[in-house]
Amino acid sequence: MRAGGTNVRGTVYLVGAGPGAPDLLTLRAAELLKRADIVFHDALVHPETLALAAGAEKIAVGKRCGWHSTAQRFINKRLVDAARIHRVVVRLKGGDPMLFGRAQEEIDTLEAAGVSCEVVPGVTAALGAAALVRTSLTRRGLSRSITFVTPRAGSGEDAHDWARSALAADTCVLYMGVGEAEMIARTLMGRGASPDLPALIVENASLPGERVLPTRLADLAATAAAHSGGPALILLGQVFARVQVPAQTLERMHVA
Ligand code: SAH
Repeated sequence: MRAGGTNVRGTVYLVGAGPGAPDLLTLRAAELLKRADIVFHDALVHPETLALAAGAEKIAVGKRCGWHSTAQRFINKRLVDAARIHRVVVRLKGGDPMLFGRAQEEIDTLEAAGVSCEVVPGVTAALGAAALVRTSLTRRGLSRSITFVTPRAGSGEDAHDWARSALAADTCVLYMGVGEAEMIARTLMGRGASPDLPALIVENASLPGERVLPTRLADLAATAAAHSGGPALILLGQVFARVQVPAQTLERMHVA
């Protein structure tokens, strides 16, 4: 028997909350939230989504920036402890739990402690953004491949050649990159990407403050300066060449 396997009552569900809008949640996720005894949630999860977990204790654990591995270890431990007390433990993460969400650390810790664990997928931010701009990420004739990349490395993580990954496919979606737009554009152009490569910054996809800023790689940093601080993606590729700002986005945009 694995260490800690005794005394475990519950199952921990790693659940995707989708990109923001509460109705982009899966039925399975909604069902689990209704049954949840305790929910550990990221900072970006919508209050209406949390409200589905009417009977649960809710604990905010996500940090938007400056994530430390000690904080992650603390969450891992809390999930194990919660499963010793509760039957339905939900770890609710923005988008899809398996993308840029530290899911593997949590799964590995739970397995090592003998806690059963299930994953419920969610709509990742890239797909929320593609829907908003009504642009296929795999448009025939222009794109047969997509990379989901982040230039951000956690503390203690080895340096990684994110630029190689970004340039390896026809379409690239960069997560957690908008604060480093100048470095991203400079690095990618230094590696041979065209200054005219069509680019978008999509902010708050699926939320009331959603915004689309169409640009090109050479102007990415200047465009990013207009970013208001909500969660944002950078999307790169020829498929975005003709993206206009959708009318409903203009309506919803708050004028600064
Ligand atoms: N697991 C999540 C990603 C977590 S990393 C997913 O699958 O979507 C957090 C990053 O996701 C943010 O820095 C931002 O780049 C992106 N993001 C999350 N929600 C977003 C939204 N509504 N609009 C645009 N980008 C978003």
